[in-house]
Amino acid sequence: MVLLDLVLRIEPQLNVFVVDTELLFPETYALIERVERRYGIKVERVRPEQSVEEQNAAHGDALWKRDPDACCELRKVLPLRGYLRNFDAWLTAVRRDQSDTRTDLPVQAWDENAQILKVAPLVDWTEADVWGYVQAHDVPVNTLHFEGYPSIGCTHCTRRVAPGEHARAGRWAEFDKTECGIHVA
Ligand code: SF4
Repeated sequence: MVLLDLVLRIEPQLNVFVVDTELLFPETYALIERVERRYGIKVERVRPEQSVEEQNAAHGDALWKRDPDACCELRKVLPLRGYLRNFDAWLTAVRRDQSDTRTDLPVQAWDENAQILKVAPLVDWTEADVWGYVQAHDVPVNTLHFEGYPSIGCTHCTRRVAPGEHARAGRWAEFDKTECGIHVA
């Protein structure tokens, strides 16, 4: 949201999208609508080829419980790659302080998997920097952040974190999985 607020000040016609797995929290869908109203933009919903029902029929019920890597590939990674084919560059708000898997992220690099220049202007920002900007500019954020969810993905794969737990401890908590494959394979 900080990145969006910053770049829309420079380029109000930017293409803005969200990967909508169709399994996001109601609070997340509410935020998307709030963002559209606040900034007067259309947020494109990038959706998987299959609905959840079609995926269940093709791969069995609740793939996220049995093979979350496959589920993320179908519902996040492939739809995103398909969408990004239309563009030369992709701005993303990943930061090095978000997890041990992100400490070496470059500011910009060619993303071989998505075949696009990936630019991460906030790579060096800290969590405190982010919240400072949010407060200073009254940036809309997901209300779940105030209910114990520092990192938010799909409903089935995100839990509340306890005080002292790592910010991403609530993501795929039942599995040895820390990334969906979009930013770090
Ligand atoms: S986060 Fe969970 S439900 Fe969402 S795409 Fe990945 S495995 Fe599927």
